[in-house]
Amino acid sequence: MAEQESLEFGKADFVLMDTVSMPEFMANLRLRFEKGRIYTFIGEVVVSVNPYKLLNIYGRDTIEQYKGRELYERPPHLFAIADAAYKAMKRRSKDTCIVISGESGAGKTEASKYIMQYIAAITNPSQRAEVERVKNMLLKSNCVLEAFGNAKTNRNDNSSRFGKYMDINFDFKGDPIGGHINNYLLEKSRVIVQQPGERSFHSFYQLLQGGSEQMLRSLHLQKSLSSYNYIHVGAQLKSSINDAAEFRVVADAMKVIGFKPEEIQTVYKILAAILHLGNLKFVVDGDTPLIENGKVVSIIAELLSTKTDMVEKALLYRTVATGRDIIDKQHTEQEASYGRDAFAKAIYERLFCWIVTRINDIIEVKNYDTTIHGKNTVIGVLDIYGFEIFDNNSFEQFCINYCNEKLQQLFIQLVLKQEQEEYQREGIPWKHLCASDKILEFDRDFRIRHYAGDVVYSVIGFIDKNKDTLFQDFKRLMYNSSNPVLKNMWPEGKLSITEVTKRPLTAATLFKNSMIALVDNLASKEPYYVRCIKPNDKKSPQIFDDERCRHQVEYLGLLENVRVRRAGFAFRQTYEKFLHRYKMISEFTWPNHDLPSDKEAVKKLIERCGFQDDVAYGKTKIFIRTPRTLFTLEELRAQM
Ligand code: ATP
Ligand code: MG
Repeated sequence: MAEQESLEFGKADFVLMDTVSMPEFMANLRLRFEKGRIYTFIGEVVVSVNPYKLLNIYGRDTIEQYKGRELYERPPHLFAIADAAYKAMKRRSKDTCIVISGESGAGKTEASKYIMQYIAAITNPSQRAEVERVKNMLLKSNCVLEAFGNAKTNRNDNSSRFGKYMDINFDFKGDPIGGHINNYLLEKSRVIVQQPGERSFHSFYQLLQGGSEQMLRSLHLQKSLSSYNYIHVGAQLKSSINDAAEFRVVADAMKVIGFKPEEIQTVYKILAAILHLGNLKFVVDGDTPLIENGKVVSIIAELLSTKTDMVEKALLYRTVATGRDIIDKQHTEQEASYGRDAFAKAIYERLFCWIVTRINDIIEVKNYDTTIHGKNTVIGVLDIYGFEIFDNNSFEQFCINYCNEKLQQLFIQLVLKQEQEEYQREGIPWKHLCASDKILEFDRDFRIRHYAGDVVYSVIGFIDKNKDTLFQDFKRLMYNSSNPVLKNMWPEGKLSITEVTKRPLTAATLFKNSMIALVDNLASKEPYYVRCIKPNDKKSPQIFDDERCRHQVEYLGLLENVRVRRAGFAFRQTYEKFLHRYKMISEFTWPNHDLPSDKEAVKKLIERCGFQDDVAYGKTKIFIRTPRTLFTLEELRAQM
């Protein structure tokens, strides 16, 4: 059992704290981190602290220790949660999900990968070729998504700049037969600009550093990163990622997953076109903006399989319908620059979404007939940006924090619901607890009182980012490309100016809708949680920064989580297991009891020790209210 791991390593479950207080919580978290015990339970939730060093705790031997075991039987670990989700799915045919949250650099993506590795390792004992193929695809898809969706930031060298939810589908035997990925809000502004010390998405550096000379020549690119305006900020940064080597890994993964050669070629052409777009300069001749470097326009046109004059026109004019007339309105220099950047961001975002769609086409469940094979069940894994409070908070933080509000609400609802259901199953009365509500406040900037703390949002750029305007002309330009892969990415470019009647939905509305769908989806599944904490801002395995950690514990609501668990009964176990551990304490149960049931025997044992007021007897489990009782039982056991 988790709580019987030596106390030298601290308490393996926060529910067992003597008092529910921040100092005690922090002391336990620190002690465990310092002892290399990075995982701790709160009941069925795993709290994880990023160790910032490789630990030898994910190998085959560890996997074997968790396989098929009950959650409390082994020390806290991601594998315990993964196994619990898997068992619920397999034994009870429940759809389950694992929600991984925490701030940037806290270890969410690494955790999601270990969870997937665990699931891959424990399934398909009969080595069916088709299942092996699906597992391989699911694992390989990670590196492609990371290449295009991750970037070096000041907080994390491999920061996911999008939210990801991945379903893994299982057949009746419990083997993976496919999957589906949903992606959320890619931070596309990074394509055109980065903070000092940060980089754009890995894909650009990988191509420039890893592409062969011949390939780069065909894309009109040179190796030098500082030649490209869109990425020159981070050009000199040393990355812990080997871009050149990674280029080959990703190219290979795309091939293995099933991207066609012309598709892979188009991906590189798009990346190159974006780099060239960033180098386009506009000059003003009288009132008229002109493109200074015309050669670049023809390169872009070649890469996007369209015509030079059409690219030039889309960059300098927009088509507007005024009454019955359709006219070409010339951009100001500012509008032209805005249009160029919006175009670059949009083609990258399209590319990313298209990659996800292609992966989905390939990994989706095929040839599974539920009437023949029985229910197809799902484990979902959510790796999504945590709460963000920066010095300057803008539209992106607003969306991200909105997402976290929704997830936190769901967390409270579901943890309470799960508890309630367990109580009902066991026939134990349930007392209601209230969850607090959030309050909204407005000033010039505006402040939202989030569950995790107050955040002031700056309204500067808010509306532009929300409207996210991309001139229609660019959409038509792309739709008319003679490259079918590219054309397919822009179906709405089919509409002529007079046919475009509806305004596109705003970015916030699109995001809100996707969050509502996500929450509905999670709510329909049995949830398991991993709450990740970043121990310091220096990526150091040695430092446990109390202040930073306390802040995260606060906004992840971990103390509340402990309280919810303890409001009822901190500890619960089946009668059989309980007896197995404590039967030596009482002469009525040692070595074997002659009572009619294990439940009766446990009752006798508890009364013998005088703990009857601190426990409740469920149908299959004993519930113990205070950890002290458990410790005393442990002490009695040790004295035997
Ligand atoms: P973001 O929100 O920016 O995507 P994240 O929470 O996904 O952040 P990760 O990318 O998973 O963070 O982790 C950041 C880095 O921390 C990893 O690249 C790795 O170096 C280290 N790390 C995280 N988890 C572990 C672990 N379990 N063992 C060893 N190192 C880890
Ligand atoms: Mg990540």
